[in-house]
Amino acid sequence: MSILKGLKEMEKALVRPAASSEGGLKVRWLKLDDQQSAKIRFINELDEDSPHYDPERDLAIVVSEHSNPKDYKRKAVCTVDSEGRCFGCEMARKEPKSGWRARFRFYINLLVDDGLEDPYVAVWSQGVGKQSAFNTLREYAVDTGSIGNRTWRMKRQGTATDTTYILLPGDPDTEKYDWSGVEPFNLEKVVREVPYAEQEAFYLGFDAPAQSNNTNIDW
Ligand SMILES: [Zn+2]
Repeated sequence: MSILKGLKEMEKALVRPAASSEGGLKVRWLKLDDQQSAKIRFINELDEDSPHYDPERDLAIVVSEHSNPKDYKRKAVCTVDSEGRCFGCEMARKEPKSGWRARFRFYINLLVDDGLEDPYVAVWSQGVGKQSAFNTLREYAVDTGSIGNRTWRMKRQGTATDTTYILLPGDPDTEKYDWSGVEPFNLEKVVREVPYAEQEAFYLGFDAPAQSNNTNIDW
């Protein structure tokens, strides 16, 4: 739209949402400091067969993703199945030991009570390697049928890529937990899907704001 009438329209068009790379969806990510712990509840279950599964709260997801080994925040979904082509897969073939190959990550909504502010909903994302907290959770779900029917204590140890999470399950709920007012993020919209045509620029950082002063200026 090239003609804007009224402040609301102008605001929508001119004030970009902060998390524009996520398609306008503002995601709150879990943020714990090294050695910080919190009481959490898993909002999503891992499987529909769980007796505590609720379609409103939906399931956690596991996604095959690539990231630029030199810039791990440049991470997006592998598109070889959806588009038949994928820049990350091409890089992995070209440079097999470079760290470009696709890896599985899981995404889940948490209700976080860190004792500092009112409990809030945040997304937690982790690799699914053998030593990962995800593996503990998966074993737990297979064993007991559910992860969402109790409060857990979660503790973060380490920083950046050298981070682990320790999860300790609390006792199961004796009464049905009241989930009213708790709104999880749509995880399928939280993960970043970049169309093939834009993947090279995205992964390699060509889409970053130019450093030079000759953009966005009328001469
Ligand atoms: Zn791929």
